[in-house]
Amino acid sequence: MDPNEFKDFSKEMTDFIVQYLENIRERRVLPIVQPGYMKPLVPDEAPQYPEAWQNIMNDIERVIMPGVTHWHSPKFHAYFPTGQSYPAIVADMLSGAIACIGFTWIASPACTELEVIMLDWLGKMIELPKEFLACGDGNGGGVIQGTASEATLVALLGAKVKKIKQIKELHSEWTDNEIVGKLVAYGSLQAHSSVERAGLLGGIQFRLLETDGKHRLRGETFATAIRVDKEQGLIPFYVVVTLGTTSSCTFDRLDEIGPICNSEKIWLHVDAAYAGSAFICPEFRYLMNGIERADSFNFNPHKWMLVNFDCSPLWLKEPTYIINAFNVDPLYLKHDLQGCVPDYRHWQIPLGRRFRALKLWFVLRLYGIENLQKYIRIHVALAHEFEEMVLSDPRFEIVEEVILGLVCFRLKGTNELNEALLKRINGAGNIHLVPSKIQSNFFLRLAICSRFTESKDIEYSWKEIKLRAEELLDGQSLSK
Ligand SMILES: *Cc1c(COP(=O)(O)O)cnc(C)c1O
Repeated sequence: MDPNEFKDFSKEMTDFIVQYLENIRERRVLPIVQPGYMKPLVPDEAPQYPEAWQNIMNDIERVIMPGVTHWHSPKFHAYFPTGQSYPAIVADMLSGAIACIGFTWIASPACTELEVIMLDWLGKMIELPKEFLACGDGNGGGVIQGTASEATLVALLGAKVKKIKQIKELHSEWTDNEIVGKLVAYGSLQAHSSVERAGLLGGIQFRLLETDGKHRLRGETFATAIRVDKEQGLIPFYVVVTLGTTSSCTFDRLDEIGPICNSEKIWLHVDAAYAGSAFICPEFRYLMNGIERADSFNFNPHKWMLVNFDCSPLWLKEPTYIINAFNVDPLYLKHDLQGCVPDYRHWQIPLGRRFRALKLWFVLRLYGIENLQKYIRIHVALAHEFEEMVLSDPRFEIVEEVILGLVCFRLKGTNELNEALLKRINGAGNIHLVPSKIQSNFFLRLAICSRFTESKDIEYSWKEIKLRAEELLDGQSLSK
């Protein structure tokens, strides 16, 4: 492709993107295709000779769009949001052009340095204690991980190294294997599946603890679990506190768990994957009360802060443990300036890393804190609008306090009834929801996901839900 063709191709793609996004509301949010739909639409082999780029443009609607679930449609309410914005898309273009692999400082100094600065900017935006920041007095600092799942695992591996070191100081005769066999980590039963998975990947025991009536992990439950394990000769070393659970957006009692961690020398990791973006608004910062006691903190601007996937900052008060957990030092990666600035290859599992800080830089500068705060507030307000609609209909109930942009609700009645309702809603495909279940109570989740969502969209979604509920309830009374 010559440079002029690139200009034409990218201009046409830009037009396509704008046309796609600005009219996304008109598309059916869920595709109707069956598995294998694409095979007859695409040749069996790669072309021997180059094609024209126009052919690819023509194939987007023919081959790709029929199989796309439109995550940025205002009719998409499944999971949690995933970020997307014009500034972040343009930043990814530049990242694609520079295409460096920023594993050490010297491998592309701008890649590392912008990341250090962006994580300080972002940390200040949510008022993270300065012990977590590179500009603070301590050793703290942040790194962009690909996902929250990686952040949880990386923190666990750091905690493991730290605990092994502490135990060896007391029992120099114990082997690493003996110690690892005794290590135990904790999270709540409502923690994300990636938390339990971090335990499996890290090769240590993981306990998922019961929550209280509001589905929050409490200090007392945690303290009891530790006591029981210590009596068995086990070594508690790591806990994940979730701020904003995936099932229902509840908040573990960080303020109760933190002091226990500090006195018991247990690494406290905070997973605020979704909710963390809301902490840029002062009125939601009470939800992170007690953060000063944590060892590591993570959230996903790629969920709710308009940054395209992947961008999952992790802040650490003492990154040395993580750096030591993964440290290997082949000659070809050494450089003369080691130690002055982070070599991020030591802070993560892969060696290679993209220039992801550009997305943050573009988004933070082109929106400004003010507009990002506005964005969060609009989504929370829309969630409350939907909550009001549900509450106004006596056939429905709200199953969890609405704090941010997620509403958990159900038809009063059995789980089967609600499963049937969800099947009808997703079957019609006009809007998309996913369910969850807490303590055998099945419910529907409506997350505000799109940056295009307005009140009229929430009204549309509520009408659609009511229509499917009426079909279901009418059908039931007919069959009786
Ligand atoms: C979404 C989510 C995760 C996983 O996020 P990834 O970045 O996809 O790994 C972890 N924890 C919570 C609470 C989440 O909501």
